[in-house]
Amino acid sequence: MLGVTRFWVIWLPAMICVSAVLTLGGCAGAPGVGLAGGPGHFSKVIIDPGHGGKDSGGVSGRAAPVFLREKDLTLDTARRVRNELRGAGLKTVMTREDDHFVELDDRVRFADAQGRGAILVSIHYDAVSSRGTNGAKTFYWRADSHGLATRIQRHLVAATGEANIGVLRRRLRLTRNPDIPCVLCECAYITNPAEAQKVAQDSYRQKVANGIAQGILEEYRLGDAGILPVPEIYAPPSRASDKYAPRNH
Ligand SMILES: [Zn+2]
Repeated sequence: MLGVTRFWVIWLPAMICVSAVLTLGGCAGAPGVGLAGGPGHFSKVIIDPGHGGKDSGGVSGRAAPVFLREKDLTLDTARRVRNELRGAGLKTVMTREDDHFVELDDRVRFADAQGRGAILVSIHYDAVSSRGTNGAKTFYWRADSHGLATRIQRHLVAATGEANIGVLRRRLRLTRNPDIPCVLCECAYITNPAEAQKVAQDSYRQKVANGIAQGILEEYRLGDAGILPVPEIYAPPSRASDKYAPRNH
């Protein structure tokens, strides 16, 4: 009996894997991780609070009703996202846990070091010269990140009531360069007085975090099912020296 049991314990998973290769085109690259784009296609979420330390990111501006720095908001929101995901049983890791500066390329290296089966979600708040601009948007570049971006954007807008600027394909350091699915959320405009008032509240940042976490969890449950596929676009890695590249993303 022991021999038979051993046979099934050792060979059954291997047979299922071979069968997956024959029927679906391949096995997942990491243990416990589903097929690319399928349910459970990742097992760890890298949460990236934008900016930090000497880099404050955007600020709300002198005319704003409350003084806000992007780096503080991103860290607070990232911690809330982490708590939501951990509560739901997903593994998480943060690119920074406190107020210190991390180079963009180091964030990319950190993400890639987590290996296949990880995804990266970078959290930002936007600031522009026009006080009237408001809303939330999510950037992606890689074709395998479109589903994740779509689900996060949907839930972020639903949870907060933010104007839906949409899911935008843009070659940024943190959307183009990692070798894993990766997206970057701009959750609100802190230069818009009404949005600054909202974002200054703990309860509102919790709504933002709930929306992002719900989008991630939906992608975990469903994979890219129901999301229109987009073609892969080749482009060289994003560099700080790129003429129009935003410096801090
Ligand atoms: Zn930013």
